[in-house]
Amino acid sequence: MRVKYRPRMPVTSDDDLGFDPDALRARYAEERAKRLRADGNDQYLEIADQFEHFADDPYTDDVEDRAPLTDEVEVVLVGGGFGGLLAGARLREAGVDDLRIIEKGGGLGGTWYWNQYPGAQCDIESYIYLPLIEQVGTTPSEKYARAPEILSHAQRLAARYDLDRDALLHTEVTDLRWDDEAQRWIVHTNRGDALRARFVVVAAGPLHRPKLPGVDGIDEFAGHSFHTSRWDYEYTGGGANGGLDRLGDKRVAIIGTGATAVQVVPHLGAAAEQLVVFQRTPSSVDERGNAPTDAQWAASLEPGWQQERNENFNAWLSGVPQDVDLVMDGWTDIVGRIVAIYRDGRHGALERPMGEVLEIANFQKMEELRARIDRVVEDPATAEALKPWYQMFCKRPTFNDEYLPTFNRPNVTLVDTDGQGVERITERGVVANGVEYEVDCIVYATGFEVGTGFERRAGMHIRGRDGRTLTEKWDDGGMRSLYGMHHRGYPNLFVMGIQQGAWTANYTHLLDEAAVQLTYVIDHMRSAGLTSVEPTEAAERDWADQIVATSMGGIAGGIGGSDCTPGYYNNEGQDLGRPPYEAPYGGGSIEFFRMMQAWRDAGDLAGLECTGPADAT
Ligand code: NDP
Repeated sequence: MRVKYRPRMPVTSDDDLGFDPDALRARYAEERAKRLRADGNDQYLEIADQFEHFADDPYTDDVEDRAPLTDEVEVVLVGGGFGGLLAGARLREAGVDDLRIIEKGGGLGGTWYWNQYPGAQCDIESYIYLPLIEQVGTTPSEKYARAPEILSHAQRLAARYDLDRDALLHTEVTDLRWDDEAQRWIVHTNRGDALRARFVVVAAGPLHRPKLPGVDGIDEFAGHSFHTSRWDYEYTGGGANGGLDRLGDKRVAIIGTGATAVQVVPHLGAAAEQLVVFQRTPSSVDERGNAPTDAQWAASLEPGWQQERNENFNAWLSGVPQDVDLVMDGWTDIVGRIVAIYRDGRHGALERPMGEVLEIANFQKMEELRARIDRVVEDPATAEALKPWYQMFCKRPTFNDEYLPTFNRPNVTLVDTDGQGVERITERGVVANGVEYEVDCIVYATGFEVGTGFERRAGMHIRGRDGRTLTEKWDDGGMRSLYGMHHRGYPNLFVMGIQQGAWTANYTHLLDEAAVQLTYVIDHMRSAGLTSVEPTEAAERDWADQIVATSMGGIAGGIGGSDCTPGYYNNEGQDLGRPPYEAPYGGGSIEFFRMMQAWRDAGDLAGLECTGPADAT
């Protein structure tokens, strides 16, 4: 983190903080200890076998009946979310006509296709989150657009770049095999397809497979139940903006209080006869601060504004203060606080190590959020139970103005489990703290698999030149790649993701940078008439060394730290024994994106090995 301000009058004591840092540290450690469990990621139940139906697509009734395909396309894009769409858009811009998206959902949109639960909304402001706004020619209606608008944007993006054409929906890739003789990928799907492709882009998304709590009895429950990413409007009535009119005579339980639950709970609370919210760890809930888009402002934007805004946001988030904070939201706020502490010489900032100043800003922020709960929630015991005791970025921060007031409703009960979670599900309901709560419906807001293997989450095996899967390669000495995208032994494969790539809170920014990068390589190969591309062993080794040599700066450094309360940000608080180079690039995303740009500008595909008639590197 670089701060350019200097203090005016240093003060060295903690007295002016208004809280006791040692007491907070102790409380955070105590709450963390309560939640640590030996089974870590294994505590969750995989959605498979008798639980398979929890992953069924409730949004599209008709699955098109079609014959299996065995034709060849130039590029197969696995996943029709923003990753696949952006890769498709950038490839189309480069003149690639022959590409096909394969998507397991009944429509394109990825996360926004699946997460159609009431209240779904993005926490990153729409002006930077909705990709290629300028190219698509739309203006988000609000600072924080709601899910239907985001899904429409994804679909408009698909239409603008003609990506619907030939898309295979309701189709899951099960196996990717590199045929070295043919120099083609063979793409097997659950619909019996065996397509051939010159290039494959894997854009399967990080939060892709829903998971259930690993408690007994889920299959015994006699009422109705579903996961938030497969919302059953048939049962609840209503739609994305709420109005769940079929719940008026229903007792509903929701398990989980993460970012999804924070958005869902107000709608369930407004509609259900009774709502019981089962909490293991409270989320931090900041103000939403939404507002309609100012038409005059939108009309005044100059070409290139979105990229500029994205870079500004990213800079703040990476701890590099700018002259102006264009986005000014709950993500950039904390860095602004650090800057202010320095600028005003508060709390002896100069005498303290940078980590302590960051910690102070974080304590302040969390104290404010805890005070907000006291102001909003009327019942003191409920207010106390809703308070999060951890550093802000240990868990996904949330922003919502309706969640906390929902607990003032007489029909809503918070069941706090003091970090232990629900104990079991019975035929009649949910057991927590030794008490059985009888309900008609259970909504699982228990998130998605994160800590499990890449191929398991992606739902497919990726077999390279020697038939070895990516998992087998990574089990042998850890993940090796160049920029997280290119993998030796897996020619012409491009993986879009965070691991060994960049981290930024605005995931679509990261995806677009990756799309630009892979398009550059594919374009280069097409124009040079090259056949295959993969990184050299040395390049993979060097990249791993660079990741180890850099360390996460800025806020990213505080995300899911090992001393954080358990969650998916830190592998449920467990050291999985994976090598340190499986992390994102430590120099931060700004540096990473610049490095990619410089690499492209150099034009020599450094670190990649190509074969083909031109046989260039
Ligand atoms: P999360 O993984 O964040 O939350 C799962 C919840 O289930 C947690 O509260 C967890 O508690 C709880 N839980 C798990 N097991 C049990 C149990 N046995 N008993 C009781 N509670 C249990 O999933 P979400 O779907 O909420 O969010 C996933 C991610 O999706 C977010 O982090 C964010 O990245 C993204 N998202 C973004 C949104 C946005 O932009 N607005 C909105 C929604 C999601 P514990 O914390 O103790 O583990």
